[in-house]
Amino acid sequence: MRPEILFPFFAETLSLTGVGGRTAANLEKIIGGRILDIFWHLPVGIIDRSKRPHLSDIKHEQIVTLEVKIDRHDIPPSRSKAPYKIWCSDDTGVICLTFFHARADYLLKEMPEGSMRLISGKAEIFNGALQMNHPDYMVSLARQDEIPMIQPLYPLTAGISAKLMSKITAGSLKKARILPEWIDPNFLKKQQWLSWYDALQMVHAPKNEEGILPSFHARRRLAYDEFLANQLAMEIMRQKLKKKKGRSFKPKGILKAKILKDLPYELTNAQKRSLQEIELDMAEEAAMMRLLQGDVGSGKTVVALLAMINALETGVQAAIIAPTEILARQHLESITALCKNTSLEVEILTGRNKGKKREAILERLISGKIDILIGTHALIQKDVIYKDLGMAVIDEQHRFGVEQRLALSAKANGIAMDVLAMTATPIPRTLTLTIYGDMDFSKLDEKPAGRKAIDTRVISLQKLNDVVLGAGRAIKQNKQIYWVCPLVEESEKLDLAAAEERFLHLEALFGDKLGLIHGKMKAKDKDAVMEKFSAGEILILIATTVIEVGVNVPNATIMIIEHAERFGLSQLHQLRGRVGRADEQSTCLLLYGHLGSKNATSRLKIMRETDDGFIIAEEDLKLRGAGELLGVRQSGMPDFKVASLEDHGDLIGIARDDARLILNKDPELASKRGKALKTLLYLFERDEGVKYLKSG
Ligand code: ADP
Ligand code: MG
Repeated sequence: MRPEILFPFFAETLSLTGVGGRTAANLEKIIGGRILDIFWHLPVGIIDRSKRPHLSDIKHEQIVTLEVKIDRHDIPPSRSKAPYKIWCSDDTGVICLTFFHARADYLLKEMPEGSMRLISGKAEIFNGALQMNHPDYMVSLARQDEIPMIQPLYPLTAGISAKLMSKITAGSLKKARILPEWIDPNFLKKQQWLSWYDALQMVHAPKNEEGILPSFHARRRLAYDEFLANQLAMEIMRQKLKKKKGRSFKPKGILKAKILKDLPYELTNAQKRSLQEIELDMAEEAAMMRLLQGDVGSGKTVVALLAMINALETGVQAAIIAPTEILARQHLESITALCKNTSLEVEILTGRNKGKKREAILERLISGKIDILIGTHALIQKDVIYKDLGMAVIDEQHRFGVEQRLALSAKANGIAMDVLAMTATPIPRTLTLTIYGDMDFSKLDEKPAGRKAIDTRVISLQKLNDVVLGAGRAIKQNKQIYWVCPLVEESEKLDLAAAEERFLHLEALFGDKLGLIHGKMKAKDKDAVMEKFSAGEILILIATTVIEVGVNVPNATIMIIEHAERFGLSQLHQLRGRVGRADEQSTCLLLYGHLGSKNATSRLKIMRETDDGFIIAEEDLKLRGAGELLGVRQSGMPDFKVASLEDHGDLIGIARDDARLILNKDPELASKRGKALKTLLYLFERDEGVKYLKSG
């Protein structure tokens, strides 16, 4: 249950005075519909009204506050489109205030001729004369306190003026309450941070430019709070899983030796090291929760298999779950090949298996005949029952939700199961902590020997014709090509139009050996196209950016990316990773249209210079925000409201250590600080784990 003290924070903005249905709806669309959402909507700048020049001092457009005499109203004839003008002056000059759609009676009453007024707004020079359109403030000298000298500037949303936004924020901040402190007092003192309440008030009342920087102390406090909530939530899940009694796997290693003997290659050092880390975990009684990170092609599959073998040899079953049908089938293929000289039974179960066939698989599963079951979400359906599931591999773990992961764990007959998660998306450490904070990490940071580097070239789109001709020559030699079409803003519709246009263009030249794949297609249709490409029936696959992570078509050796300057680094890296999967030399052509920004140029340069996913990920985080790093639409990235990994990344490791320490000392969060931390979890809406605390 949410603590009562937070109730007002979760009230609708509609409950604020001055916020009507339409405003509330506009807020809801962009910022969120609750008071709390307004708390986290921080200013991006300040409006400084403290400059009070004489009229003759104003030489260019600027925000000013002016003390002037109202000389004369110029009222436009009714129905005229001309603006309403009020002429004002001081000892040094004249300024004209202009109003469109003004109400004469109102202006005449507020600004009587002959009176003195304080006016604040943006002064401009128009045709050599001073003017101000719609001043923000017009008050008598007696009321000058009503003009805020420094005003926070919020990112605005349609239908909400700056003035209204200030009012909404002020109203919301009045609902804030002093909360019990959840930060360790010593740490708080060392950082010289304010309380949560004071920090919140302060970030909304910047006194100068420094006050809106991410490095401003009050913002760092709130960012730390958010990281702490995030890390604590993960740690609760981790402890829940760790608490359960698990199995200690200490196999003799006979089966493993057999598979190793048949391997056509030597494991890389990174593979050996990761496997060792995994084996140490598996020997422990506590459940393993380890993430294996490694670029595409770094050889995760064989590591996953050898890990499973350790469990299998003791007589239990293992499962691999993958986010898509295609990935599941690829795992089936590689695993079957690696196990060919063993008596292990490897089977696949996906949404495609229905009726009798599915029943037969389920029967062999429950009787223990199947040793390794590979599949999609189908693996966690209720009626999928294992004889004795001892270990699971989760591929592209961030594509699965907490509930799904728990559902899989629940298949293990009440015993905590060893879990190995894998991801082919190398991400910086800070990000790893926020997404996979509940896990331990192993890294495959070394490519198998003998891989040829992909020949990466950066080419102007003006040479498109040459590229097309080159593609024509390549398909004559039966080479296969991925052709990725540009991102057009954030619209899938426009992406699609661009891809379709290129498809028609190339089809006219090369005939029927073309395929088109895009995000709007049904999963089944996508699979069908991918399978054709995989089988070599399609030679040029034109795609929006939907090409699945991990898809393996070794014969595809050319990757062409149009308007590569529009893609993020990690995205380019992922796309390039589709090729270079066979002995043959692969090529990646990065076609650029317009290198508008320095960032775009740096990105393409980095792509040409390095092939190391971890370096690329770090660079990407520097160049772009973390939110974009994984692709905006990709799930798994917690959505931080105040904290930013680029700006506050140094705090996340501290939050992680803090969270672990707290839960070790106070696993039920029952102490005074523990209770405050529970409030923190609710405040940042990371409370899904609270129910797992006994005192929950
Ligand atoms: P990932 O899943 O990490 O993208 P895979 O496990 O699919 O990579 O491996 C990519 C390719 O590299 C496979 O064809 C695999 O057989 C091969 N491979 C894996 N490990 C090695 C190694 N140590 N030496 C040579 N080739 C390897
Ligand atoms: Mg274990």
